[in-house]
Amino acid sequence: MLRNTVKSTATSAAARHFSSTSRKGMKVLCVLYPDPVDGFPPHYLRESVPDISKYPDGQTAPNPKAIDFTPGHLLGSVSGELGLRKFLEANGHELVVTSDKEGPNSVFEQELPTADVVISQPFWPAYLDADRISRAKNLKLALTAGIGSDHVDLDAANKAGITVAEVTYSNSNSVAEHTVMMILGLVRNYIPSHKWATEKRGWNIADCVAQSYDVEGMDVGVIAAGRIGLRVLRLMKPFDVNLHYYDSRRLPAEVEKELNLTYHDSPQDLARSVDVLSLHCPLHPKTHNMVNAELLSQMRKGAYIINTARGALCVRDDIAKSLEDGHLGGYAGDVWYPQPPPADHPWRTMPRNGMTPHISGTSLSAQARYAAGTREILENFFNNDPIRDVYLIAQGGQLAGVGAKSYTVEKGKASPGSHKA
Ligand code: NAD
Repeated sequence: MLRNTVKSTATSAAARHFSSTSRKGMKVLCVLYPDPVDGFPPHYLRESVPDISKYPDGQTAPNPKAIDFTPGHLLGSVSGELGLRKFLEANGHELVVTSDKEGPNSVFEQELPTADVVISQPFWPAYLDADRISRAKNLKLALTAGIGSDHVDLDAANKAGITVAEVTYSNSNSVAEHTVMMILGLVRNYIPSHKWATEKRGWNIADCVAQSYDVEGMDVGVIAAGRIGLRVLRLMKPFDVNLHYYDSRRLPAEVEKELNLTYHDSPQDLARSVDVLSLHCPLHPKTHNMVNAELLSQMRKGAYIINTARGALCVRDDIAKSLEDGHLGGYAGDVWYPQPPPADHPWRTMPRNGMTPHISGTSLSAQARYAAGTREILENFFNNDPIRDVYLIAQGGQLAGVGAKSYTVEKGKASPGSHKA
């Protein structure tokens, strides 16, 4: 039977209190995606995953004091519990893990008012809007097991003095690999060709190749060249494409030279200049709906868009219309708004789409890193030690750490993407 909620059996009854040295008796409310429909644990194809100890810029991978899980196992769904239960209960904390996150009677809503820590994942976001934050009177830490904290209303979190943190870099390279796969899949017409061979049992070469091209020689650009965007540029270089980017912060000159990059000073200028446009900025007020009918109309006919960043960077119906009108060549991605999307979401059925559920950052390899990073952040939080600056999005009532570099907040306004549409 599928489990959607797991609670501590030996709930700590210790009073919730602060001490100058450590935090005790905390309630941790963790929202994870549901277990596989085929049951848990699943069958694993491989016996291990490579151990990555350092990221390309030298940042060390998460280094908690210990882990209580096997890297390569499914940790991101309810029964996987991010490998946290033993650690939390041994230290007198309470853990509630659930996938039931919507509606007033959901486990999430019921447990939220007494939670000290909420852990959520972008793949199955527990939206923390101002209303929910106002009812979460004990909440001190909103922790994203992954990257991207747009599901939290950052203005409301700042007003309530809630720390927001995420496991920066844990799945950036995972997403970049997925993006390259999607670029090649769209341009080379992989998915429809696969369907001809398997579902339709055909040998329809002409049907397959009538919309298939090489990426070699194309103009490929990214909006935002942060950890993921820069990795995509680096991975695409060996395909002998012309590389372009736009970012509000320009890359060092030596990186531009190394990759022979063309910098554009606006998303519009970039969009006009490329055959493939890949989105890699966080969702915040300045990026919300940045890909709209006006920008799409300026793109080359037959251009492709890849979006592994956030669904609400794009105007949903403008994307579908541009594909239906035959202007966009294709659209692929794994991010939607809201998540999960309703059954009638147009991106499920629009022409030439290569959509998947939100999976690029939650490969088994990535899960080992973000589970370890979640534990590292919790260890620091419980011990009242500083959380790594690079993991912080907001702290002490304002954007902090990596959040101060990549996000914006409009005071008095909800963060786009922080409540279920
Ligand atoms: P990052 O912080 O390293 O990079 C973000 C970049 O965006 C920075 O270079 C920043 O300057 C740029 N940026 C911010 N606002 C901008 C604006 N208005 N215009 C242009 N550039 C802007 O983060 P990252 O690790 O590269 O992740 C980027 C985003 O990807 C995350 O915030 C998240 O939304 C998404 N993501 C998705 C998945 C997934 O599974 N699909 C996983 C991880 C991250």
